[in-house]
Amino acid sequence: MDILNLPAIDVHAHYGDYTSDANAHAAWCMSGDAALVAERAKAARTQWTIVSALKGLFPRGRADACVGNDEAADVVPKTPGLLFYAIVNPLQPSSYDQARRLYKTNPHCVGLKFHPEEHRYPITQWGRPLFEFANELGAEKNASGNSGGGCVIKVHSGEQFSMPDDYIPFADEFIRTKTILANIGCGYNGTRDLQARAIQKSKRGNVYTDTSSMMSILPRNIEWTAKEVGADRVLFGTDTPLYFAAMQRARIDYAELPDAAKRLILRENAVKLFGDRLKPFLA
Ligand SMILES: [Zn+2]
Repeated sequence: MDILNLPAIDVHAHYGDYTSDANAHAAWCMSGDAALVAERAKAARTQWTIVSALKGLFPRGRADACVGNDEAADVVPKTPGLLFYAIVNPLQPSSYDQARRLYKTNPHCVGLKFHPEEHRYPITQWGRPLFEFANELGAEKNASGNSGGGCVIKVHSGEQFSMPDDYIPFADEFIRTKTILANIGCGYNGTRDLQARAIQKSKRGNVYTDTSSMMSILPRNIEWTAKEVGADRVLFGTDTPLYFAAMQRARIDYAELPDAAKRLILRENAVKLFGDRLKPFLA
């Protein structure tokens, strides 16, 4: 099949209103409801888009993860093409129980999302309880009785509270977790190689990264990352509706990589990583 027609799986997306500090016009540009996200995914030949509710992440330091998760649990199953992550905020302890319930009972919930920057906590300090929790879920079965053989966590990475390196000791220790260090090329200090360098330091083969950063426009960096860590560790992500889904898709379609690597990035890695949790949706 031509790469351009390959049904992709977008492992990093959102829906809802962008409510962080930005002027009204900029915020409007980066907002989009579930229907719009699904429509743009279709235009980008994406079969499944895994979202988390922006309401559970923004505004910075003031978001209610539980309200966002409740909304996602309702809206996502009604929107063809969407699946979701349950957001866990360790500073909002009730989000643990809610995430456990969603992960166990809602088949559309396929993993967890951590965002130290928006929720304002250093991962160095809160990584242990978060990964311990994910590790526990990684041993559980979902509503269809399937076990994914480990819980997927998609984590924001690249800023002060969320340096990719700082996740590695937890990923190494908790082997029933599979961590996607989001945003290849995101580095608050101007570095573009943080995600790849962190994967290289990890010992258990359970750390991945995604292409969702706005820095994906940078030539060479996605290709360099795939070469450094292996294309089997790189997943397609768009960060839609903050960024334009079809543009992010084109970045991979036309990447300076062999077709086999593009197939892994756009789809095959996600099929494998999410395992039995994704399987019912691929039939
Ligand atoms: Zn994001």
